Amino acid sequence: MILTGGAVVRSLDPVQITGDDLHVTDGRIAADGGVERRDCSGCLVVPGNVCAHTHLYSALARGMPYDLAPPENFLQILQRIWWRLDRALDEESVRASALIGGMEALLSGTTTLVDHHASPNAIDGSLDVIEDALSSLGVRSVLCYETSDRDGPECAQAGLAENRRFIERERREKLPLARGLVGAHASFTLSDETLAACAAAARELEVGLHIHAAEDAVDERDSMALYGIGVAARLARAEALDARTLLAHGVHLDDREIALVHAANAFLAHNARSNMNNAVGRARLGALGLRVALGTDGIGSDMFEESRAAFFRLREDHSDAGPDWSLERLSQGARFVGAAFGERRFGRLEAGAPADLVVLDYATPAPLTTGSFPGHWVFGLGSRHVRDVMVAGEWVVLDRRLTRMDAQELAAGARVQAERLWKRLDGIGSHEFEPKGGRR
Ligand SMILES: [Zn+2]
Repeated sequence: MILTGGAVVRSLDPVQITGDDLHVTDGRIAADGGVERRDCSGCLVVPGNVCAHTHLYSALARGMPYDLAPPENFLQILQRIWWRLDRALDEESVRASALIGGMEALLSGTTTLVDHHASPNAIDGSLDVIEDALSSLGVRSVLCYETSDRDGPECAQAGLAENRRFIERERREKLPLARGLVGAHASFTLSDETLAACAAAARELEVGLHIHAAEDAVDERDSMALYGIGVAARLARAEALDARTLLAHGVHLDDREIALVHAANAFLAHNARSNMNNAVGRARLGALGLRVALGTDGIGSDMFEESRAAFFRLREDHSDAGPDWSLERLSQGARFVGAAFGERRFGRLEAGAPADLVVLDYATPAPLTTGSFPGHWVFGLGSRHVRDVMVAGEWVVLDRRLTRMDAQELAAGARVQAERLWKRLDGIGSHEFEPKGGRR
């Protein structure tokens, strides 16, 4: 394939733009070659976006009925919304969620999803279901099951086993588009034994641990009350904090804990809109530093929207931040995924890199240069400009339509599953789990 006539953004950080043809051969960007041509005149060709933290299982939850008393804090949001929803999930609703989430990702220019999954009543094989749904759409993914003690020791063991089983399968079958991590929910729902088992599995399998860390003050309070140390220190003590680790949120990490995260060179997924929506506080982005990627925490997977919201929220505190901040963050997400896939060039459109890219139909109203591109990203570009999407060298969206599946059919199937899922919710009350360290 040869993409002709477009401005090619070879790299987001640092920004590099060239005007030459882009060649794709055998699933990778190439120096030359390709036979078929795709006219990209008047378009921008950019690396595919990465969502570094999401929960596909929430895709059928939008607008779902809610009869309990309104949640007043983060813990109640989990007890009354998400820990009810996840227990209502079965294989079919997990599949429908992944298909809808994957479809929306591609149509908004996101080519890789780093997912954190929970379905306590359908654990075994759940990662296969998600992988199958995403691979059939052509979405690249990094998957894990969120091991937790909140639903009892059997679920904790089954959760960890699911991670291990999937990682072993993904390796045995050499899945082209999926990798596994060891997933864990959060410090406050993990016993020392379970956390140690997760850390040991991650070390043994040589993968990262993907875990929520200090998303809300409740996580830090629990760790301090039970162990006398903060969440990051607890992870470090369990040997669960290293350069492969992906922490989500980190809102309540203090200076000492942030220093531990830096020392470990761990990644952190910042989820600006989710933090606002759950009123958990503001992540200290200045202190958190460079290895911060962007996630949506389940609020779709439109990274144009997420990076814009994150940027404006940042600007409220740091008016000196430039729009290149958003591009640096997206590029960190690609770096994390590249590490998971063993692809050093991942996220760049340079020879040898996996050909994950997006063609944006953008009639630029102002000069588009290396210097102005970040401004276009934050103030102009959006998922409405996504025309074509390629993953691993294959077109998965052409002229704003999925190439492998029918969007209307997927939505119709999802509506059936959503209705059944919502009905099952009626029979499930607020989750009774309370942090052992107490609420206060
Ligand atoms: Zn999350």
